[in-house]
Amino acid sequence: MRILVTGGAGFIGSHLIDRLMGANHEVICLDNFYTGRKQNVLQWLNHPNFELIRHDVTEPIRLEVDQIYHLACPASPVHYQYNPVKTIKTNVMGTLNMLGLAKRVKARFFLASTSEVYGDPEVHPQPEEYRGSVNTIGIRSCYDEGKRVAETLAFDYHRQNDVDIRVVRIFNTYGPRMLENDGRVVSNFIVQALQGHPLTVYGDGSQTRSFCYVSDLVEGFIRLMDNDYIGPINLGNPGEYTILELAQSIQKMVNPDAALKHEPLPQDDPRRRQPDITKAKTMLKWEPVVPLKEGLELTIADFRTRLEAEGKLTVS
Ligand code: NAD
Ligand code: UDP
Ligand code: UDP
Repeated sequence: MRILVTGGAGFIGSHLIDRLMGANHEVICLDNFYTGRKQNVLQWLNHPNFELIRHDVTEPIRLEVDQIYHLACPASPVHYQYNPVKTIKTNVMGTLNMLGLAKRVKARFFLASTSEVYGDPEVHPQPEEYRGSVNTIGIRSCYDEGKRVAETLAFDYHRQNDVDIRVVRIFNTYGPRMLENDGRVVSNFIVQALQGHPLTVYGDGSQTRSFCYVSDLVEGFIRLMDNDYIGPINLGNPGEYTILELAQSIQKMVNPDAALKHEPLPQDDPRRRQPDITKAKTMLKWEPVVPLKEGLELTIADFRTRLEAEGKLTVS
């Protein structure tokens, strides 16, 4: 099959491409390199089944493909808030263009949506039926309202134009190839611990998140794409931790001498988040298999190698 992956040079997209290339598909990676890196797909650049296109999804593009995995969009609050108007354009115009493409070539269309559509949830854990509690005018809105519109577009193209869609709501995911300056909690804590800096816990650290290792997530993507169920479906690891617990685990694993330092909690920071994955278990026979400690070890090893290569490792 010929498969388009938008955002394919990013963290999750590049792991997905590794899986698709391993299954002998033809893969087109489309990325504007806003937060993605050529390095992430370097191993495939000379492969005859692989093509890399520098393109911004907010502009139309004509391609002939059988499937589209639409992931293009910055995912970390630091990056998506840097240029919020661009973020919402990417979510709205970018998704519209990819749905227009899917309609024209009759490709199956997969949308990477997010647990952020639940906002700061009043229902815990969050099932797919929960409609969310989102601030329309806050600093996270460009991302979470953008993804809500992207879901709406997908379902309207499905009802109106028979586009074959799949929609997944991704909960916090981590693993090798996260950016060093990504701003997300797992990468921040690991880089801080490896460099002997204090781990920056925002607020009192009692807010919770549930962290899924990237290989588990990609397995869920493939299962949904190959399934008749269109979603939306939650994919994430139900293991819930406070941010303080995460800081202490990483501190213990990397550098017990690293200090913890509290910084102000960002505006609209969700208090807690945990996926209800009953649907993924029943419809896709999927559940995560990589425990947090094991996933963190793999992620720490990757950061250690990269920081060492750049001469930025201070704790051995
Ligand atoms: P990432 O920032 O590493 O990857 C996003 C990729 O999209 C990057 O390569 C970036 O350069 C590219 N991109 C951004 N805007 C673009 C544009 N206008 N045109 C073309 N390419 C563009 O982030 P990620 O963690 O790999 O996230 C991938 C997808 O998964 C995103 O859609 C994100 O919203 C979603 N998601 C991720 C998480 C998570 O925890 N990582 C959670 C929920 C949802
Ligand atoms: N589009 C695209 N590639 C295609 C087909 C469509 O980028 O192969 C874009 C198109 O430019 C438009 C969007 O997708 O902006 C929606 O297309 P659709 O055909 O649904 O709407 P229309 O073009 O009729 O407004
Ligand atoms: N966080 C933190 N220190 C950091 C980065 C993030 O305490 O250096 C907190 C953040 O306030 C949030 C949680 O960790 O409560 C997860 O943040 P992240 O940006 O990784 O993801 P999201 O908020 O989008 O789930």
